[in-house]
Amino acid sequence: MSEYRIGYGEDLHRLVEGRDCILAGIKIPSEKGLLGHSDGDVVLHAVSDALLGALALGDIGELFPPTDPSIKGIDSKIILQKAHSLIKENGYRIVNLDVCVTCEKPKILPHREEMKQSLSSLLNLEMNRISLKGKTNEGVDAIGKGEAIRTTCVVLLQKD
Ligand code: MG
Repeated sequence: MSEYRIGYGEDLHRLVEGRDCILAGIKIPSEKGLLGHSDGDVVLHAVSDALLGALALGDIGELFPPTDPSIKGIDSKIILQKAHSLIKENGYRIVNLDVCVTCEKPKILPHREEMKQSLSSLLNLEMNRISLKGKTNEGVDAIGKGEAIRTTCVVLLQKD
């Protein structure tokens, strides 16, 4: 394979009452939380899918099927660690990550540095290689009405 590979990941989870709002491995204060078979961490899912996508290794739904009762409530840090270990086993390392989180609530900016620190420590990656942006959807569609959070991620990998 070539020396550089680019990957893209995208995910969306519904916001509901009675669930925690966990983003990039951090519990964020929020009236609503993320629904999912896992802990619903939409950021770690998008990053994991970007890592897998860069090396054409499938997606997290194949690695961790949402129909598997044994992984109900799984910590998404385990999903990210699996995806990261697969790219390392294939001889690649992360050059940089660019993550975009879109929601009306909670506000991302007050938690951005903590979320970046979490990604930095989970991926053993310097902070200056991690970008994390928060956007709103200007009140449009389900995200704009506060019913869901979407995250997209682009990653560049380099062969060791
Ligand atoms: Mg997901």
